[in-house]
Amino acid sequence: MKMADYTPMWHSLGLDVEAHDGLLRVLGDAYKDIYLSQENRPERMDYFDFVISEIHGLRIQELMEARRDGRRVFGSFCLYVPEELILAADGISVGLCAGADVGTEAAEKVLPRNTCALIKSFFGFKLSALCPYIEACDLVVGETTCDGKTKAYELFNDYKSTFVIEVPHMRTSAGRQLWRSEIERLAAKIEHVSGREITADGLRKGVWIVNEKRRALHRLNALRRSNPVPISGRDALLINQIQFYDDPVRFASKVNALCDELDERVQSGVGVAPADALRVLVSGCPMAAPNWKLPFIIEKNGAVIVGEESCVGERGTRHLVDDDGATVAEILDRVAERYLRTDCAVFTPNPERLDHIAEMVRSYGAVGVVHYALQFCAPYTIEAASVERALGHERIPLLKLETDYSAQDVPQLETRVQAFLEILKR
Ligand code: SF4
Ligand code: SF4
Repeated sequence: MKMADYTPMWHSLGLDVEAHDGLLRVLGDAYKDIYLSQENRPERMDYFDFVISEIHGLRIQELMEARRDGRRVFGSFCLYVPEELILAADGISVGLCAGADVGTEAAEKVLPRNTCALIKSFFGFKLSALCPYIEACDLVVGETTCDGKTKAYELFNDYKSTFVIEVPHMRTSAGRQLWRSEIERLAAKIEHVSGREITADGLRKGVWIVNEKRRALHRLNALRRSNPVPISGRDALLINQIQFYDDPVRFASKVNALCDELDERVQSGVGVAPADALRVLVSGCPMAAPNWKLPFIIEKNGAVIVGEESCVGERGTRHLVDDDGATVAEILDRVAERYLRTDCAVFTPNPERLDHIAEMVRSYGAVGVVHYALQFCAPYTIEAASVERALGHERIPLLKLETDYSAQDVPQLETRVQAFLEILKR
């Protein structure tokens, strides 16, 4: 299907349309190689292919129409920004974490070179006027997770209005109190920007919508435990990435429709890889769209990824918000509790993450773990040592990789992945 002409919309958002056209061309080619070349894909992946083909088009048009109807758009970079609060004010939440190294040169004029690729990427997208999501936002919500993001938001605020919430790094009672008050402060800011009051009914609706989205992803995860696995890791990652952009109700219904098809595949023993393919778990930093580098390398070498212990994966969707709160204060308590359970490496100590990795290896029938960390990401590169120790105790093979968004290290990564898969075969 031919894409409509969105050029006037991109111009009105202030994008560098020529450079943006180049970006879409590169992405389209990469998508063909990495995604459309897969054999025996579930048919209902066609919806997600369509979303990607329109990711800077139709979805942005929807956001702009919603804004004309008086709704507000909130961008965020992290799982600690609760979508439930935004939905409660009839707002729209979009994920802004960028997974491509376009704009790196511009970003490095402001940020130190030894900043992680994810931070350089969102900064570069803004400075190069390449991201329609950033431009479509009424407010960007940042958070004090790692030092890199915390300081980058101060600078980012010069280019786009950014409101920062404080995330504690310890789950102590003081940390919990701080976090609960930050949730309240964010709710007040969202009310102010959207001009709408956050009520108990609105919050209940927000909680229900996001829980349904997460339940659909739980269903997808459960199906990936089958052997042969009915869907590739690449496709599952793509779905997890799209959850940050798509309308949440539509997204959940499409994931459930896909799961109906996967159910049938499982019943009839149809897999996307042979039953004896090596099953691998990927753990570590989030892979924001369009970062598909490592999954492609792993799967084109014959293994299949059965789970992601990542924010763009199970770490982000594992827990639901308890829906038994009656008042605004009670529901905000439940929201705060749920988000503080997210076991990001910025927390110390963080034993839950180590337990979750081992538990996922067992429940998904994985035979090894690839730990993925972005270069210069202190939380994940340092926590990798604890992961190694914990998995060593359980004799679970681990490959630790550090990389960025460039294609330069692909041959080197491929060699290391191939050697690891050889070890797993033995
Ligand atoms: S890894 Fe941590 S800081 Fe990054 S998105 Fe996830 S929760 Fe947020
Ligand atoms: S990958 Fe690491 S350094 Fe980069 S934003 Fe996330 S936590 Fe911070």
